[in-house]
Amino acid sequence: MVTGREEIEKLFAEADKKQIAIPHFNHSDFWDMSFITEAAEEENSPVIIACLPKVIQAIGIEKLGAVARITMEQSRVPVIYHLDHCHSVEMCMEAVDNGYNSVMIDGADLPLEENIETVRKVVDYAHKRNVHVEAEIGKIKSAGEEGYTPKGELAALEDARRLAEETKVDALAVSIGSEHGFYSHAPRLDYELLEKLHKALQLPLVLHGGSGIPREDVRRAIAGGIRKVNVGTQIRYTYMKSVEEAIRMMGAETHTADIMSEAKKEVKKVLRECIVTCRGEEGAGWR
Ligand SMILES: [Zn+2]
Repeated sequence: MVTGREEIEKLFAEADKKQIAIPHFNHSDFWDMSFITEAAEEENSPVIIACLPKVIQAIGIEKLGAVARITMEQSRVPVIYHLDHCHSVEMCMEAVDNGYNSVMIDGADLPLEENIETVRKVVDYAHKRNVHVEAEIGKIKSAGEEGYTPKGELAALEDARRLAEETKVDALAVSIGSEHGFYSHAPRLDYELLEKLHKALQLPLVLHGGSGIPREDVRRAIAGGIRKVNVGTQIRYTYMKSVEEAIRMMGAETHTADIMSEAKKEVKKVLRECIVTCRGEEGAGWR
């Protein structure tokens, strides 16, 4: 069982040695939390189950933390429970206190100095309690936002170096041209920038916006130093469409457990494909 930061660091070190990545999937409820765990067990891969503040607001942090703790204890593979894109230092601390073993403090919208200051507060609190911390540098675009406009590669590189050194953060989400949500055009990842970041920084780099990035591009990014691949939209979309389809086929009077068991098949297929992509070629990776 993954009890905290040291085990997570070991997993990242193993991923680094093998040139593979740990898959990260966003979940919205207890059903998809179990789909993710099952898919990871079937693929014999560690997995990060991630939770957005929106889910905490809807379900409650204590309840989520308690179920995640049992999930982590009972799973046959290492499961990490992670708070994703949290802008609040207080919520990060609450997550640390409620069993999350990894948190992301997202200060990418802030000026660099403030981002550093915010990340440092979370790192101070989390490291004392054996919790892993991710930060973000450069702004990763979300649907409806302005395009990807790095301030200049060297500036971004220098900013990343400062943030890593001055905060002692454990992992870093880097803006290299990926976007959250589905793509309206083929994503163009900046592999040159990734290479520079990978060379300059001694910590795992995270690729956000993994939904819909072609498999070859994800593999190329992993070869370039990405050690964690975040997938949210694709899983949620498949989940909702599968439930919709199951209700259409079986009728809304069907028991929820039976609808979910049907929906699970398709969601797990997508999850397993993403896990295989992160693990590298068949036969390689975690096995
Ligand atoms: Zn993200």
